[in-house]
Amino acid sequence: MDEIEILLKQLTQAGGIPGHETEVRGLIQKHLGSLGEVTHDRLGSVICRKSGEAAEPRIMLAAHMDEIGFVVSHITKEGFIRFASVGGWWDQVLLAQRVVIKTAKGDVTGIIGARSPHLLSDEERRKLVERKDMYIDIGASSAEEVDKAGVRIADPVLPVSEFTILANGKTYLSKAFDDRGGCAVLLTVMRRLRDTAHANTLFAVATVQEEVGLRGARTSVRVVDPDVAIVLEGTAVSDVPGQSDDSHQVLRLGRGPIVTFYRGDMIPNHKLRDLLVDTAERGDVPVQIRADDRVRGGTDGAAIHLHGSGVPTIVVSLPVRYVHSHGGIMHRTDFDAEVELLVRLVQRLDQKAVSDLTAW
Ligand SMILES: [Zn+2]
Repeated sequence: MDEIEILLKQLTQAGGIPGHETEVRGLIQKHLGSLGEVTHDRLGSVICRKSGEAAEPRIMLAAHMDEIGFVVSHITKEGFIRFASVGGWWDQVLLAQRVVIKTAKGDVTGIIGARSPHLLSDEERRKLVERKDMYIDIGASSAEEVDKAGVRIADPVLPVSEFTILANGKTYLSKAFDDRGGCAVLLTVMRRLRDTAHANTLFAVATVQEEVGLRGARTSVRVVDPDVAIVLEGTAVSDVPGQSDDSHQVLRLGRGPIVTFYRGDMIPNHKLRDLLVDTAERGDVPVQIRADDRVRGGTDGAAIHLHGSGVPTIVVSLPVRYVHSHGGIMHRTDFDAEVELLVRLVQRLDQKAVSDLTAW
């Protein structure tokens, strides 16, 4: 594995459901510590300030560090564990998946179960199993055994999925590419800019609690008070069977980062958008342009661009297949292209360029 693969492995394997980001935060702080001055907001987002050749403008690069997961909601007399979702899960990707419960006594492994298909009637087998009928099985047979293992109500539960380099050597499989992929881009861009001139002050921000409502973005943006913001995300692509019709654009792995021109929660600053596209063209960096109101969920950009009297903001995303599941797939070409694009863009964001963004 090269440096980037090791970084992606570390970041995706670290735990950090919303409100329980301690493990992944420690890792990110360790990486950012050598690159700038690290502080926090009071929800736990990490903010790393790195001065360039000019104090102004203030550039915020933000990626969220939390991942979707669960919490223990109820323990049955028979020793099965009911769970509540933290963040947006699709019930169909849950059954038979391995999870780990983070208890005060240590990690407890379990599997998401439901009644065995052998025991269902034909009609029952045709129906989808809903999350409310699922449970986590840690191999216990009583509530006492679950208690003895250390499991308590509200303990966080994480998906288990090993980081794996796939058959072509260029695609990677793991949980949590949304948004540890964005975090890895953030750290790599900061590393690249350590020894490169940039006429601005950079704030690399790893936000908390994005998946439950962009909460760390709202608090960290007040600390940073940026003049311009670039949000680094991981987002779903549609280059899979059953999607390639003419009614919608097909976004693909390996064709470059996705730049969102329109979605329901945010319209990017148009001049920033044009500057980014121009930067991509000049650098021969591939990008995919998206304008789609069907995309569910918000991004930190929705919160950040409304800070103060408004912040010119754009969202740049790593394409990910099967986002919000145990097994996302991302492409190295997209990662490298996004890093290159952001390094070049940051270098162009001097005082004049940024004042021009809001010269109406
Ligand atoms: Zn995300």
